[in-house]
Amino acid sequence: IPVDTFDCVVFGATGDLTLRKLLPALYHRFRDGQAPEGSRIIAAARSEMDDSNYRTRAEAALQRHVAKDELDPEQVRRFLACLHYAQVDGAAEKGWEGLLSLLAESPPDRIRVFYLATSPDLYGPICRNLAAHGAITPQSRVVLEKPIGHDLASARAINDEVGSVFAEPQIFRIDHYLGKETVQNLLALRFANTIFERLWNADVIDHVQITVGETVGVEGRGGYYDRSGALRDMVQNHMLQLLCLLAMESPVTFGADSLRDEKLKVLRSLKPMAPHEVEQLTVRGQYIRGAVDGRPVEGYLADLGAEEPSRTETFVALKAELNSRRWANVPFYLRTGKRLPQKVSEIVVQFRALPFTIFPADAGTLQPNALIIRLQPEEGMRLEMMTKEPGPGGLHLRQTGLDISFEKAFGTRYPDAYERLLMDTVRGSTVLFMRRDEVEAAWGWIEPILDAWEAKGDTPRPYSAGSWGPTASIALIERDGRTWHEDLG
Ligand code: NAP
Repeated sequence: IPVDTFDCVVFGATGDLTLRKLLPALYHRFRDGQAPEGSRIIAAARSEMDDSNYRTRAEAALQRHVAKDELDPEQVRRFLACLHYAQVDGAAEKGWEGLLSLLAESPPDRIRVFYLATSPDLYGPICRNLAAHGAITPQSRVVLEKPIGHDLASARAINDEVGSVFAEPQIFRIDHYLGKETVQNLLALRFANTIFERLWNADVIDHVQITVGETVGVEGRGGYYDRSGALRDMVQNHMLQLLCLLAMESPVTFGADSLRDEKLKVLRSLKPMAPHEVEQLTVRGQYIRGAVDGRPVEGYLADLGAEEPSRTETFVALKAELNSRRWANVPFYLRTGKRLPQKVSEIVVQFRALPFTIFPADAGTLQPNALIIRLQPEEGMRLEMMTKEPGPGGLHLRQTGLDISFEKAFGTRYPDAYERLLMDTVRGSTVLFMRRDEVEAAWGWIEPILDAWEAKGDTPRPYSAGSWGPTASIALIERDGRTWHEDLG
């Protein structure tokens, strides 16, 4: 879908996120002809440099983070020519002349995207300064990276500050999981097919598992991570968003508010955990030395370079339940962690076991159906079902999968989530972004868990790098007579 000519101002343009994710995503969109002639990217940060220095840095980032066969030298040259650099301290009142004069070169009705790829404590000051310098036009919008705060109060403070200068439809709170093709496919699966929605309830579904595993440790971002931890970094945003899309009722339309109203209802229906339940319903862990992919790796404290023990969890597993008729007594088990055996994001919708079988015991054990939705490494879906083993030697039943790999099915390059989301900000479409009340409702559910952990004051359970977390995570689900799905990836 074409977009209008735009200026995209990226604050934090010398940072990891911009160089690793945003510039490659923008390059792809420019290369594919989606950015009309005259569109510009204005890179803003405090470091001293000019357009030419920044273009050199951007080119190095593209060489590093874009696949070689997608780097066309002529397209790279044209892309770099659209990049400009403005040296500005977003938090200071002075020194905005360069950025303002660059913006003044465009017609006043040009779409302006202000992408804040800085630490969240700068969101308020940058927005205030944008307003004070008259940089916010009716065609302006602001993009906020995660995390929006570290608890409910700080999220509200950021939302208040940003909301005092931008109207809610101008605010794009990114959760890049929502830009993933398979996540959007959840909506297609549920609402563009006849068969699944009828089965999508407590009568047929036993439970749901969501696993997001990373093999990496904290990779030089230990300072940030140690203040955050797995619950804040992964569950509060990405995993709860997945849960919402799985559990929500059908939106009235595919409009932004319609969809977000339904997600909000799910967040509000999450059963709050009382302090005494947190011990039962959550497990937190921290990796110690071990091996990932056959390679020995250090523990979290060594990665952090910390001399003192840290109470930050690098793994969390939890059992969430919803106060709703549709999901009565259907637990949602979530687990995520660093230094796990596989880089994988997977949803398992586990259907109930058959109440009765006509088959003799020697035909094999009947496994209940499961729908497995893979978000990474390879995006696809598999429906596990029982079939008869071929052959004349009697009746043997075996579980096999109806498997769709999206890449094979469509034979096309899968765009990075940021490509889709960046273009949606230009289009002004907030469907795949979080509304203020969603972010705050998610914090509202998470915060009592954090408080209970804090009050208990103990350190997370150790788990060896390369394992699926502390054994207590297995106990969490086995107590309910269930097991984590093993055939991941
Ligand atoms: P980073 O590498 O530390 O970069 C921070 C950027 O902010 C630098 O370009 C820095 O440049 C700039 N900056 C700092 N103070 C500034 C100021 N007063 N005015 C203007 N620019 C300023 O951080 P990051 O990893 O890119 O992360 C940026 C944001 O994205 C954070 O909110 C983070 O949580 C979020 N995020 C990051 C990732 C990731 O993979 N990196 C993933 C998801 C979300 P100067 O020093 O030159 O000013």
